[in-house]
Amino acid sequence: ELADVPLEITGLSKRYAGSADRYAVRDVAFRVEKGQVLGLLGPNGAGKTTTLRMLMGLITPDAGEIRIFGHAVRPGAPVLSRVGAFVEGAGFLPHLSGRANLELYWRATGRPAGDAHVEEALEIADLGEALDRAVRTYSQGMRQRLAIAQAMLGLPDLLILDEPTNGLDPPQIREMREVMIRYAETGRTVIVSSHLLSEVEQSCSHLVVMDRGRLVQAGPVAEITGAGDSLLVGLAGE
Ligand code: ATP
Repeated sequence: ELADVPLEITGLSKRYAGSADRYAVRDVAFRVEKGQVLGLLGPNGAGKTTTLRMLMGLITPDAGEIRIFGHAVRPGAPVLSRVGAFVEGAGFLPHLSGRANLELYWRATGRPAGDAHVEEALEIADLGEALDRAVRTYSQGMRQRLAIAQAMLGLPDLLILDEPTNGLDPPQIREMREVMIRYAETGRTVIVSSHLLSEVEQSCSHLVVMDRGRLVQAGPVAEITGAGDSLLVGLAGE
């Protein structure tokens, strides 16, 4: 039943205006099942961000189809209300607490105060006492965690995280990994991009490997990392 499939994409292609015949994403297809943590892995310029921006309905593909829970995705599609997204550079009001910022965001998007799913999301994000401190006192890592928490508010069925570990130190990367795993344990689905195999292999159940716009490998993480593929050795050494 397609209505139960968090994501299925077929023949997805995108070429930016002005980049002649160079495709940012070329004929990419894969499927994500409920409860998976899918890692989208590839070096800089592989097309990860372009792929995720199409999934989020931020840009329109030139060709191909994206289905989220069976519904075709296009900018403004109602099914996008089931998607939570983290992209770099979320802005917060520095003098308000983390919690106040999230509440403001939640109400601004027209969702009800006192939603039990908001409290559950904050528990999964595990920001601790920092949630009640002003955002201006936060480290870069804490701001990033707050942005992840924002993406998780309301417990979206599909959580999309574009390079959430960028700029984090190893303990913060571990915490991020645990947040993603806890999230998927609720039966929801996570898609996370990274250019480092070492960052995704322990948190992801499945991988899609991209290079220069193309999908080069896809499958359960053990199958891919166990293959001793020279491409992955190259990616891991990025
Ligand atoms: P990174 O890890 O650096 O973000 P990525 O895998 O996310 O890499 P994309 O950002 O999707 O890759 O970029 C894929 C290709 O598309 C690159 O060659 C990039 O230069 C190009 N590209 C990305 N955004 C644009 C844009 N707005 N206009 C033109 N070309 C773009």
